[in-house]
Amino acid sequence: MLCPVCSSSQGELFTSAFDRVLNRPEQPWRIQRCPDCGFGWTEPPLRDEEIKQHYPPTYLGDSRRTVEEFLAGRLQQSRSWKKEVEKVDLVQRFVSGGRILDVGCGDGKFLWALDARRWDRAGVEFSEDTVRLVNRKIDDLKLIEGDIFSPELPEGSFDVVTFWHVLEHLPRPQQVLERVQRLLAPGGRVFISLPNFDSLQARLFRRYWYAFDDVPRHLYHFAPLPLERLLREKGFEEPEHRFFSSIVNIHCLKYSLINWSEAYFGSRLPYYLLKPLLMMVPLLERITGRYGMLTTVARRVDAGLR
Ligand SMILES: [Zn+2]
Repeated sequence: MLCPVCSSSQGELFTSAFDRVLNRPEQPWRIQRCPDCGFGWTEPPLRDEEIKQHYPPTYLGDSRRTVEEFLAGRLQQSRSWKKEVEKVDLVQRFVSGGRILDVGCGDGKFLWALDARRWDRAGVEFSEDTVRLVNRKIDDLKLIEGDIFSPELPEGSFDVVTFWHVLEHLPRPQQVLERVQRLLAPGGRVFISLPNFDSLQARLFRRYWYAFDDVPRHLYHFAPLPLERLLREKGFEEPEHRFFSSIVNIHCLKYSLINWSEAYFGSRLPYYLLKPLLMMVPLLERITGRYGMLTTVARRVDAGLR
């Protein structure tokens, strides 16, 4: 398979990894990396009809319980809610309000965290049960069953489109970004958050890197340069790369070290001994710019001004 971004090479083997999320050690996957542009992909590639079988109903967690906790106000007191609030803060640093679409929104937690007076909130999600449940229980937002190509999404109408750890799961990222460009209103912004393949932690942990736990569902492995190249090709400008989020970043470091500790020593003891050192990694990541978690924000090119 040629590099899907620059077509210049067949890629080199970066490492191999297995699906730790569903615990399938018997099936290793190859992580290929393009030496020219730094983009990565998982081999053998999944055919479209194979993708769904790697998403069991349990993959999204217990949506019913999450909705109940939210409606009772308990979710908003939890530690995990902070992750949603910091996403809202990041988006609002760029856009103060308007129409927003969250792609692969799951139960829609991020959308719930947005102020309904400022935002007209929509999400797409392929889990039919989750979509039905959330639309029935949560007011003032609309989830659509399907993917970003759903005809229910009106073109030229969104001020913001977000992908929170979703783009790396989607086949044909070029077509996805083309679709985002058409869905956005002039000057609209896309937010793409994902693990950074060109990070210190990917190189340090290799097969134990927590982001590889989700193979083969992570079809592609993005880094700032190839992502920027795709965005510019598909009609976006002013890409900005952020070290975001530090909460998710430390979570990823922690579980990478646990993977390594358990695989090498059959115990978490080395993890506990080395854990204090983990605190140094984000500092090194900041100095080198090789963040573990990357969030890229880009603006739709306004064709009228060209
Ligand atoms: Zn390439």
